[in-house]
Amino acid sequence: MVDTAIDPERKKPGKLECFINPEMIWRSRETDQGREGCFSTGLVYGLVRRPIALKLRAWTPEGKQIERIFEGFSARIMQHECDHLEGIRFPDRIKSDRKLHWVHTEELGIYPDHIKHWPRLCSRQRWHALSHS
Ligand SMILES: [Zn+2]
Repeated sequence: MVDTAIDPERKKPGKLECFINPEMIWRSRETDQGREGCFSTGLVYGLVRRPIALKLRAWTPEGKQIERIFEGFSARIMQHECDHLEGIRFPDRIKSDRKLHWVHTEELGIYPDHIKHWPRLCSRQRWHALSHS
């Protein structure tokens, strides 16, 4: 279940859609870096580099096979959610200790503007220890 009309600022209503057995059959060579957090990572947020577009093949709940292109923020979400199906959480995709952060709920409003120089880093070693405890 993915919100395919998501607004990163959460100012517009989204559109929940269900994709069964999703498979990414194409990903753009071009990548960009964006902010991610997750219900499964608590206060850990970070900057993740991912392809900016992809093509998904999946089944609808009505049993129809579809192929769809996703771009921008919805491509990022789709990759994040498909990763979950493989047991991968976004911090596992981060290669630099400077890009994984501790962010308290009351700081989420200022986080986007300060993400590049966020003072409280979560080292990948710490993440690894947390995620295997
Ligand atoms: Zn997640």
